[in-house]
Amino acid sequence: MQAAPRAVRKRAFASREGILAVTFEIQEQVDLSPYNSFGVTQMAAFFADIQDPADLPQAREFAASRRLPVLVLGQGSNTLFINDFPGLVLYMNNRGREMLPGAGMVRAAAGENWHELVKFCLENSLYGIENLALIPGTVGAAPIQNIGAYGVELEQFFVELEAFDLKTGEIRHMSRVDCQFAYRDSIFKQDPSQKLVVLAVTLQLTLEPALQLSYAGLKEALAGQEATPHSVFDAVCAIRSSKLPDPKKIGNAGSFFKNPVISRSKLMSLREFYPELPAWDTEDADLVKLPAAWLLDQKGWKGKRRGGAAVHEDHALVLVNRDNATGEDVVLLAQDMSSSILQAFGVALQTEVRII
Ligand SMILES: Cc1cc2nc3c(=O)[nH]c(=O)nc-3n(C[C@H](O)[C@H](O)[C@H](O)COP(=O)(O)OP(=O)(O)OC[C@H]3O[C@@H](n4cnc5c(N)ncnc54)[C@H](O)[C@@H]3O)c2cc1C
Repeated sequence: MQAAPRAVRKRAFASREGILAVTFEIQEQVDLSPYNSFGVTQMAAFFADIQDPADLPQAREFAASRRLPVLVLGQGSNTLFINDFPGLVLYMNNRGREMLPGAGMVRAAAGENWHELVKFCLENSLYGIENLALIPGTVGAAPIQNIGAYGVELEQFFVELEAFDLKTGEIRHMSRVDCQFAYRDSIFKQDPSQKLVVLAVTLQLTLEPALQLSYAGLKEALAGQEATPHSVFDAVCAIRSSKLPDPKKIGNAGSFFKNPVISRSKLMSLREFYPELPAWDTEDADLVKLPAAWLLDQKGWKGKRRGGAAVHEDHALVLVNRDNATGEDVVLLAQDMSSSILQAFGVALQTEVRII
């Protein structure tokens, strides 16, 4: 993915009330390829680079006056465009991080880079999120799918978020309970009628190290050295860099599918045919989570291609833009993959990536 260019043109626009004063920048017909980690080319009819949330009421008015759909975008690392977007893209680019008076509390603007926030916390001796190092994307997108990795999820440290409500034009504050976090899920994904633009997120971290080393690969990577938040951070970065394709070099959005959750009784019947089938416990004793990558591996998906899209040679869960793929190439490949898993195991795969 190339570095996203900044919007440069200032434009006046008409609303029901007449011509509005121009205080924020808006562009027409913007190529979205620098704004999505698959690097697919689709156009946005209108595009606003939101560096100051104070511009959002005008952006809202602009979209309402033209009856445009609105799409909120961070760094596009969990988004796949299969069509041009006929409305207004709000590219969240507001910045700022601060330590709050409460011990261990930190607040960051939605447009901040997530990994940079993890580093900032570590540098300020605030601990807990080092397992989430190097997850691409913005702070504002982190609650949308409750980002998680190596045994840690955002919700464990989440206090609240501040959001601009596109329906009412009001500012809302949402707690952890309001967000209804679950595995790669939240109210924002469950209820598309929620038209909220996350402006900032507040986290409560710990002043004492609280290491989470349950992930086997992490324990192995730390063998022979003292486990500290800094060594965990370094180990997570090293594992991720060695295992996951870098979207700057080859377009991808990390795991394309979620790990499916099935009943324990279904697991028992599957294990009659596949005794090696791995499974993890969940908080619900009747449900288990299966590794989607293992299922896809059994069906030989690694390296398979469709048009310009391909399954990564080393990761059956990661779809890549191998050769000028369109969003449709990626989706058709994903559909073939999930059909084959449904047919073979009777297990439905759900996409983690948001398809627009
Ligand atoms: C190589 C790679 C590895 C990855 N590994 C992981 C991983 O280990 N764990 C994990 O959880 N994810 C992972 N991901 C997915 C991705 O990094 C996260 O989902 C991240 O939070 C997306 O951030 P973004 O800013 O790019 O979001 P975008 O793709 O821009 O947006 C994602 C969704 O959030 C919405 N959104 C974005 N910003 C806002 C906002 N300010 N207000 C309201 N809605 C908003 C968008 O409308 C969209 O629905 C990986 C991706 C890649 C490319």
